[in-house]
Amino acid sequence: MNLPAHALTLLWMTCVMLIHCLTLVPGCSGDSPDPTRQAERDRMVSEQIIPRGIKDQAVLAAMRRIPRHRFVPAFHSAFAYNDGPLPIGHGQTISQPFVVALMSDALALQSAKKVLEIGTGSGYQAAVLAEIVPNVFTIEIVEPLATEAAKTLVELGYRNIHIRVGDGYQGWPEEAPFDAIIVTASSEHVPQPLLDQLAVGGRLILPVGKAFQEFQELVLYRRTKDGYEGTRLTLVRFVPLIRKDQSIQPGER
Ligand code: SAH
Repeated sequence: MNLPAHALTLLWMTCVMLIHCLTLVPGCSGDSPDPTRQAERDRMVSEQIIPRGIKDQAVLAAMRRIPRHRFVPAFHSAFAYNDGPLPIGHGQTISQPFVVALMSDALALQSAKKVLEIGTGSGYQAAVLAEIVPNVFTIEIVEPLATEAAKTLVELGYRNIHIRVGDGYQGWPEEAPFDAIIVTASSEHVPQPLLDQLAVGGRLILPVGKAFQEFQELVLYRRTKDGYEGTRLTLVRFVPLIRKDQSIQPGER
């Protein structure tokens, strides 16, 4: 096919403009955002975590390293490094990064070998723990969340996290005692099985308050030779601990 010279020129200009436009499409250009999102994570730690007083270097390093965006649904991925919790489905949430840091820091994990988490959720808190201690045991009551978290954690290469589906109120007696226990859902009282499964010198942290109460108190317990010492840390807002034998009525306060 023979085209007149001006038609060829027009075609050439159209091609050049098209190529030029394509390079401006975000994600297709040479300066597309970094898929590892390292800069966002570094900023999250330097702006949200350090200024609020978190000093444990192992916690800070873990939070700089773990791709939090892999733990949130794709729909919310853009907000993965924002200063707040995010929905993860089934009415549950991944905690605010600062709250993850605060709880991990309070557990003083430097010499801990075995940690138990109640409320796996997305698996993010478990990953933070697994960066610091050799063995993490985590229990999730909502089966699809446990399955999704296990998938993410395996994809990211974690081999030291053991997930169980069930009611975490009972703890994981076969693996007790634990050097630290973290409960990431709020309870009206401290579950006795968890206190029992804490090693002497170990720490338990959990939000205590009524289901659907606006705020709960974050409480830290230390097991001593003779008993337990409790310290109230701050006010937090968590989803309630679900009991298999009790259904929580929506709107109940
Ligand atoms: N730690 C999670 C966030 C937890 S949200 C993360 O990093 O993403 C609280 C989680 O606790 C929810 O996934 C909820 O399903 C779970 N949960 C509530 N009651 C529970 C129970 N009795 N036993 C185990 N998990 C429970």
